[in-house]
Amino acid sequence: MGVAKGGKNFIKRKNTSIFFMLWTVFSLFSVAIVCLFGFGQRYILNRSYKERIAEDVSRCGKTVQKELATFGANPLVDYSGFLYSRAFTYDMSIFLVDDEGEILYPQGLEDYSGDLYAASDLDFSARVEKLKKELKKADASVALYEGEAEYVYGADLQMRYGGSPVYLYVSESLELSRSILSDMTVRIVLSSAFVLILAFVTAGAISGWLSKPITEMTQKAKRLAHGDFSVDFSGASYCSELSEFAETLNVAKDEISKADQMQKELIANVSHDFKTPLTMIKGYASMIKEISGGNPEKRNKHAQVIIDETDRLTSLVADVLDLSKLRAGIDTLKKQAFDLSDYTFDVLEKFGDFSKARGYTFRTDVEPHLVTRADPVKIGQVLYNLVGNAVNYTGEDKTVYVALKKEGNVIRFSVRDTGEGIEAQDLKDIWERYYRSGETHKRPVQGTGLGLSIVKTILEKHGFTFGVESKRGEGSTFYVLFPLF
Ligand code: ADP
Repeated sequence: MGVAKGGKNFIKRKNTSIFFMLWTVFSLFSVAIVCLFGFGQRYILNRSYKERIAEDVSRCGKTVQKELATFGANPLVDYSGFLYSRAFTYDMSIFLVDDEGEILYPQGLEDYSGDLYAASDLDFSARVEKLKKELKKADASVALYEGEAEYVYGADLQMRYGGSPVYLYVSESLELSRSILSDMTVRIVLSSAFVLILAFVTAGAISGWLSKPITEMTQKAKRLAHGDFSVDFSGASYCSELSEFAETLNVAKDEISKADQMQKELIANVSHDFKTPLTMIKGYASMIKEISGGNPEKRNKHAQVIIDETDRLTSLVADVLDLSKLRAGIDTLKKQAFDLSDYTFDVLEKFGDFSKARGYTFRTDVEPHLVTRADPVKIGQVLYNLVGNAVNYTGEDKTVYVALKKEGNVIRFSVRDTGEGIEAQDLKDIWERYYRSGETHKRPVQGTGLGLSIVKTILEKHGFTFGVESKRGEGSTFYVLFPLF
């Protein structure tokens, strides 16, 4: 596993920071709330104010119209006194106007100086035009509508003055409400600005608080990427997801650190394993050249050493290649049904000469003709590695027990040795690539530290169950469960 050391450049992405994103989201949310609340309030107030004025104008208009009816719609009556009194009572301007916009009553408005009948209100031609339009639109003798800066109750009184129809025109100015509203708008804008500033600051503080642990973890992850395995991701995090994330990163860190360590060990191991046979090959080749070339017996012996060492190198290279091919997924399984019992005998036979020469004993309990479905070549590799390890690590009695038995619908292959066994804490690690627990004794079967890793990869690819049972001082039993075909 390659871990980038110093000089590795991180690609600078143009993505915005989480702080900025959170801050923007919070701020936009606050702006939306303030706008909605501020302007919504203004709108609602404006509407309810107008509704109230409309109600007042309508009530006043209807009353005055009813009262006027009691006068009998007589054009000769002077309505001025009556209209003035009602105008003051209702606090509204009340007119009787003709078709051309002439004010018929109240009279004497030129001398009046109060608010109700301001001079600008006296130009009626446009207002009467609008009233007539509204009456037509309503198709009635009465209309209630919003005019220019006023609310109007207008009614055709069905009476004639100098040949023209007479209209009752009751209005209340909206000017006051407008000034109140604009005043309110200023207040809303000011308070919104204050609330927004507060929201921006709070959003900044919250975003900083939320993004801090993530930023910290990113910094630590960068340190880790540069090979600093001392980083600890767990720290002050405010939620369970982040704690879990930190925990996961810590586990990943431990794994990377272990892989890094193992890689270093592999390089040391493999270079050592390469160097020893190479030194031997060179030494013996020189010996043949300089000393033993003329002596066939010695030359053959020395040549054999060269051949053996070359075989060692070849198997080392083959193991490294096998593993990388398996891991990279280049090597696909060629599954077929085959006699596992025969394969077991074959493997044992390979160790036959060797056991004779070195005094090893194989005690076997192999049921014949047990057929399974798998990749026979790869399974051969598995059996060979497991038996080889048992030979390497078995005890003084030099005995290895191999069994192949049917158990329900599976075939259990097991190989037991009588060696020192494996420490409980090492049981998990021995399957890892390059793992070798303390290289202490000289082993009869050459190992590369890759054997069990190859076994694990092959069996996992098949989906077979496998494992090891071992106690310190009591030897180890490696087993594989094959499906019965
Ligand atoms: P090696 O070439 O070192 O045997 P393996 O991958 O086959 O590599 O084994 C990895 C490690 O597992 C060994 O170095 C050894 O420490 C341990 N191991 C494997 N088989 C046995 C066994 N039968 N008894 C004790 N230890 C074993």
